[in-house]
Parts: sequence; structure tokens; C-alpha cells
Amino acid sequence: MFSAATLGFPRIGPRRELKHALEAYWIGSLDAAGLERAAAEIRTARWLRQAHHGIAAIPSNDFSLYDHVLDTCCLVGAVPERFGRAPAPGLQTYFRMARGQAGIAALEMTKWFDTNYHYLVPELCSATRFAADPSKPLREFAEALSLGIRTRPVLLGPVTFLLSAKRSDGGDPLELLPGLLPAYAAVLGALRDAGAEWIQIDEPCLATDLTPGGRAAYLTAYAALAAAQPHLRLLLTTYFGGVGDQLALIRTLPVHGLHLDLVRDPGQLDAALAAIPRWWLLSLGVVDGRNLWRAELDRALALVRRAATQHPADLIQVAPSCSLMHVPVDLDEERGMDATMASWLSFAVQKLDELKSIALGAASGDAAIAHLLVENRAMAAARASSPLRQDAVAQARAAAVTADDLQRTSPFRQRDTLQRTRLRLPAFPTTTIGSFPQTADVRRQRAAFKAGSLDEPGYERFLRAETARCIRLQEDCGLDVLVHGEFERNDMVEYFGERLSGFAFTLNGWVQSYGSRCVKPPIIVGDVSRPQPMTVDWARYAQSLTAKPMKGMITGPVTIVQWSFVRDDVPRARVCRQIALALRDEIADLEAAGLPIIQVDEPALREGLPLRSCEREAYLGWAVACFRLATSGVRDETQIHTHMCYSEFNDIISAIADLDADVISIETARSRMELLDAFERFAYPNGIGPGVYDIHSPAIPDAGAMAALLRRACRHLRPEQVWVNPDCGLKTRGWAEIGVSLRNMVQAALELRRDPAGSNGTSQ
Ligand code: GLN
Ligand code: ZN
Repeated sequence: MFSAATLGFPRIGPRRELKHALEAYWIGSLDAAGLERAAAEIRTARWLRQAHHGIAAIPSNDFSLYDHVLDTCCLVGAVPERFGRAPAPGLQTYFRMARGQAGIAALEMTKWFDTNYHYLVPELCSATRFAADPSKPLREFAEALSLGIRTRPVLLGPVTFLLSAKRSDGGDPLELLPGLLPAYAAVLGALRDAGAEWIQIDEPCLATDLTPGGRAAYLTAYAALAAAQPHLRLLLTTYFGGVGDQLALIRTLPVHGLHLDLVRDPGQLDAALAAIPRWWLLSLGVVDGRNLWRAELDRALALVRRAATQHPADLIQVAPSCSLMHVPVDLDEERGMDATMASWLSFAVQKLDELKSIALGAASGDAAIAHLLVENRAMAAARASSPLRQDAVAQARAAAVTADDLQRTSPFRQRDTLQRTRLRLPAFPTTTIGSFPQTADVRRQRAAFKAGSLDEPGYERFLRAETARCIRLQEDCGLDVLVHGEFERNDMVEYFGERLSGFAFTLNGWVQSYGSRCVKPPIIVGDVSRPQPMTVDWARYAQSLTAKPMKGMITGPVTIVQWSFVRDDVPRARVCRQIALALRDEIADLEAAGLPIIQVDEPALREGLPLRSCEREAYLGWAVACFRLATSGVRDETQIHTHMCYSEFNDIISAIADLDADVISIETARSRMELLDAFERFAYPNGIGPGVYDIHSPAIPDAGAMAALLRRACRHLRPEQVWVNPDCGLKTRGWAEIGVSLRNMVQAALELRRDPAGSNGTSQ
């Protein structure tokens, strides 16, 4: 009756043990056996922890040394030729695929659905010869079995695997399905032989829009797997959204169970109950696997009980909405957190208890968990009405926003004229994106200041010296619009979160971003407001050091929301609007301090796009409105910039134009100006700086090559629109190299001013 299940657990360990082991291995201070031992210890601790917390269905193969999609590539033999032709890739090949090596590019990395986790993109082609290597899932299954735990191995399903892949020869990855299925069947067979009874097969693409080809692939794939392994039971696992009209397809698949994300879409439960066979296992994702708020037990119980009115209770499992890898590991590591705040939160370990309580309550009635329910209701009521959450002034201000607040005084053309008169910039003006090298020294001084071994005046002195050095370098290079360098910022979201009210922070709330990289997102707890200016002193100081125009620098509202854990009691749009108002005040203060240009970074605008196309318009509507709310309060003469990087922009280019920023700097160097294709169809109206210097590479860009990129840009854009800048901030680069690179970039701009078309080129 009503057992508790999980779909995946954080891999990094409660104290980031995996990160430390990996990084020690990469620098050579830990050998392969040591890494394997560390990984095995982490796995064992995860299984035992889940078992001790009363979880009945525990996964294996949800662990990964780097990434589960990369693991899947190795599982099915999808190893591109440049990494060698060894039949079973060893650790060296594995990490080479993840991280590259001199002369060998790593696999591409991209965001996993709408999370902040990055996966490695499988690289396939018609020559890919799939072959099963089930050694990893087999080893993990056996390890857990030796602890007395018969796990439910997790596999990334074949269709989602292909839909997450790219073809290096340009074809449709789904065409490769027939070759892939025997490898999957072999893996299933091996797991069954090892004693597995159930397999969790993850197909999150069933919660996205599917083409007819995608739907056909599901039919083909699951028919083949069922035929090959008729006795193995498959739990088809969907998450990150509702299955919607894919339900008609799902019910026809020869599987034995279905997992639904009822946090993202509780409304899908009734349709699913009506559609699926009564003998299927039904896994109900009622505890949020993507956010760290404590569950409201009554609400979760109501869903489980509703399911039990139509589905046999012994075939219902209580589960998180998705893998718990997207939340931090253990709240008990948060020593020193405010007790009230801590009482509202639940990390992966605490979520295990929630699952167990909900399963027990569903099986035995409220009385069985009476004291938990009393405490949980009191917590929920206190959280809802707490002054940490409710700020009447911020609410009233957000409610009073009008359409006028989203509108600059004059249209771009008029602003443009006034801004040109004020700024007196040359054609092809040069600038950078904001940050300058965050050297080991910068990080050391910050750590010393935080630890108390460096006092505030000492830290300030250091930051001022660094800022002055940054401005000197920009002047020496001949840049036209300068920045202060962002040395005082640890992180572009955390810095603002720490200065806004309504935010909280964890000490140890790490979640994996990719590989060994972890992030500690801020928590947006309640209504947001700005107690005092956040960036003005640094901007004013920087402007005082130069006669060149200085660009004030802030992070935009959408990016702040996107890279935080957001309160779940109000719509995200409302949270974003409050942040936009706080930033509007900051921008007004920067303007009053004499900054002629203010840049509002929105690198995360694109990644907030919903997975279903029918929800995209609504998202873009509020996201664009929030950006405009933040930036529209300034005078016409004040120039607003924005910046975006590292995603696909072609499909949202009209929303980007709707931001009505005077200038946008945007990533293009990596994709060789692929973005410009969008401008064949869409005449981008305002100023635009297509990044010409790939800052993710240590290579020094050549002036001629950058000039060539700019000339290409000028074929699609009016020359007077075009700005010259790198792809992104320079914080990961070193001082010596950026001096050369930026001089080359300025050289490229000079070349264009002299000869816009190129001596033997043509300008259309
Ligand atoms: N202004 C920020 C910087 O230069 C922008 C960072 C980003 O786009 N991710 O670092
Ligand atoms: Zn960027």
C-alpha cells in the first residue's frame, strides 16, 4: 500500500565530496582507484540514507562521475571517433569527452530542459555504430544488492536520448533509432540477468511538444524493448511538465508504469487516472524535486488519495516530481541558518522524510501522522503570513504598475539622436561586457574579508586599486565606453540578492551545474525591495577616474529569478516584477549619479522559455515587460544596454527587439555569427554588438578575423547600428592576454571605420 519512491538523488555528496575527488584526480593527486573508491563511498551513503529514511523504491545508475547523458553515450557506444575507437571507453576517454584535451574538442554542453544543470550533448552521425556496454549500471546494481537493496536502475530512455542529441552530419537523430534499440535491449537484458525487476526509464520529452516523428519513435522504441524483454517491468518516467495530449500515446505503450510530475501539473492526474490501465504502477510526483520549500502535506495527500479512489493503492508510489539532484543535499549542513527560515525548507534528505510521511498518511489515515500534520499546517500558516514573506509596500507598488511605466519617453530614433549628441562616440564604438579578470588574488582578498582577516577599509582599498587598474587598461587599449570591472562581485546574481530584501542564502546549498561545478543559488523568500543603492558607489568612483563614458552594470530581473530558488506561493511573473521595480530604482540612482550608459544583463532570458510552445508567449510577455519596467524610467539621453549569451536567440529575436534596449551585446563569436541569419528575416532596429571575441577560449583573437566578422555583420545590419565587443565578461581571462585581445579588437574597429567594406569586399 502506497510506498515511497525516489527517481534520483544528488550525486555530489553532502560536502561536495565528488567535486573534491574529481578535481584531485584531474590534477593528478588522486589515482583512478582513489577516485573510484570515493565514488563508491558516495553511492553507498546515498543508498543507505534512502533506505534508512523508509524509501521502498530506490534507484541505481542515477549516480554519475560527470553527467548522466555522457554515461548514456558510453552505455550505448556513442563515442565520436575523435575520442578513439576503444570498445569500452575508460575513465580517460570519458573525461576527455566531458572536458576536451589539447587539440580535441569536448562534447558540446547545453542546459537540461529548463533546469540550470548542463548535460553533454551526444554527437551522432550515420556512421555511429551503437553497442551496449552495461558495465556501469551492472556494477551499481550489484553494489547496492550487496548492501541488501534491490534497486530500480535508471536509464535515460532511447527517444529522449536521441532528441537530446545532435547529428554532426546534419541528419535527424531519430533516424538512428533502429540502430540504437538493440543496444538498449542488450542493456535491459543484462540488468534483468543481474536480478533487476523494474527499470526506471526516463522520458522527459513526453512532457514536451512532439513531432509526428517523435511520437512514432516512441511506438517503435517501446514495442521493440517490450518484445526483447517481455518480463522486465518498465516505469516510464516523465517530469518537468504535464504529459498533456501525449497521454493518448503513452497509454498505448507496452510499459508497466508511469511517473507523473504533479508539482508542475497537478491537473493532469484525473486524465491520467482515466487513461492508464489499472494494473500499471502509478508513481505520483507530489514533492517538488526542483525547489527547496517544505511540502504542504495536506495538499500532497489530497492528490494521492484522489488517485487511490480510482487506482489500486498497492500500485501507487509517492515520489518527488523529478530526480532530487536539482536541490541541495542536506539541510542539517546549514548550521547557523535562521531557525524560522530553516523550518520552511527541505533539501533532498528532508524530502525523503516527506515522502515517507505522505505514503504513511495515505496508507493509514491522518491519525497515523497526526503530530506531523499539526506541525506542518502550523509551519505553512506561519510561512504564508510571515513578515519575511509579506511586504505590503512592495506589493502595493507592484500592483500600481501601469502601461506607461513600461515605455521610454520617446521612440528609439529620437533617443538615438539625443544619445549620439551626448556621447559623441565614433562609428563602430568599442566596449566590453563588464567583468575583468577575477584573479586568484581577487578571490583571496574576498575570502580574507569574509573570514574577517582583512578589514573593510583594507578590502575597499584593494578593490579601488583593481578598479583603477582596469580603467587604465581600457584607456590604454583605446576603448570608447568603459566599465568598472565588477571586482566587488562574487556572482552576478548573489551580489544583488545580498543587497535586496526578500532574499536568503545558504552556506552549503550546493547543486550540480555541470561536472564538478556546483552553484549555490540564492533563495527568493518573500516580497522584494531595495533598502539602498547597490552599485552606485562603485560606478561613481569608476566614472571619476576617466573622461570616457562609463557604463553602469546590473543584472536584469529575469536572470535574477531564473538563477534563484523562487518562492512558490505566487507566480514567477509577480516575483520578477518586484525585482524589476527594485532595479528601476537602482537605474534611476545610477542615472542621477551621472552614468550616461547603464547595462542590464539578461543572459538567462532565453533559458526561461517554457518547454511547451503554447506557454512561450505568456512567458515572453511578462519577461519582456519586467525588463522594460526596470529600464524605462530613464531620460531619453541615457543609453540602456543589455547583454545575452550562449543560447539560441534566433527564435526569440522579436522578443529581444521588444525589450527596446538602445544597444544589445550578444554572443556570436562561437557560432561564427549564426545569429545573423535571423537578421535576414528580421530587421533588428536598435544598436547591436555581435560579440567578435570568444572569451571562453584562451586564444588571442586576431584583428583581421574580428574585422571580417564585423564586415559580415554589416551585410545584415546598418553600419551605424553596429558596436564592437567581446562575447561575454572577461572574468575568466588573465590580464596579459586581454590587453592584447582588446587592443586587437580596437584595431578591428579602426579598420572598419577606415574601410567599412574591406578593400576587396563589397557592402550590400
Ligand atoms: N556583466 C557580466 C560580466 O561581464 C555578464 C555575465 C554574463 O553574461 N553571464 O561578467
Ligand atoms: Zn555573457
